[in-house]
Amino acid sequence: MSNIEQNIDNQNLVNNWQQVSKQLTDACNHVGRKSESVVLLAVSKTKPADMIATLAKQGQSHFGENYLQEAIEKITMLKEQPECDGIFWHYIGSIQRNKTRDIAEHFDWVQTVERDIIAKRLNDQRPAEMSPLNVLIQLNIDNEESKSGCLPDQLPELIATIKGYERLQLRGLMIIPAQADTNAFARTKQLFEEIKQRYPELSGWDTLSMGMSGDMTEAIASGSTMVRVGTAIFGERD
Ligand SMILES: *Cc1c(COP(=O)(O)O)cnc(C)c1O
Repeated sequence: MSNIEQNIDNQNLVNNWQQVSKQLTDACNHVGRKSESVVLLAVSKTKPADMIATLAKQGQSHFGENYLQEAIEKITMLKEQPECDGIFWHYIGSIQRNKTRDIAEHFDWVQTVERDIIAKRLNDQRPAEMSPLNVLIQLNIDNEESKSGCLPDQLPELIATIKGYERLQLRGLMIIPAQADTNAFARTKQLFEEIKQRYPELSGWDTLSMGMSGDMTEAIASGSTMVRVGTAIFGERD
């Protein structure tokens, strides 16, 4: 790609990001929330490291990745760049048991914890010199057989276990609802608040990750505190 093409490309990326940021602010204003109450997670899977660096320079600080090998390459590369120093990396892909060490050593957040065996390994493998790993439980809110996530029935037991792990900080819930379920955001918000009441000792319980490119406005209206946006910022993926 020529320098000129690269510049136009970067300008598109920055425009998209500004538009999504504005959509977030508008969605908040519309329901009387402060825009600081919702974190924008830029989902950069399959996209090159220089796009991440471009947005980091604009002030975007949370990035989400799904594919471990690809993510570690980008994280390692961007560590060298001062303007990428403040990035928070979120792992949002499915977690294989033999990959927990790589996740524990490279990420600040993991949003896809659904079983105790995975949580325990992440806790044991989180390096002592790093701060506790921020964890969201992925909830299978629609009880879909094909989908990953902890079933609603099993949630209390999983929370009770994870809150005892010292190297993990349990922050909340993440969902990917079924498309037809128009009321999943509201039900998850309700559950999120019930858990907060029931476990006052969960001091870090503050994050409800729901909403993507196509439904972030609805998610924010229902109380989302983190939207995960890929396509609307970075364009279609191959
Ligand atoms: C890819 C992905 C996203 C982003 O989806 P878009 O529709 O591209 O915004 C959000 N959350 C998870 C878990 C993903 O895997």
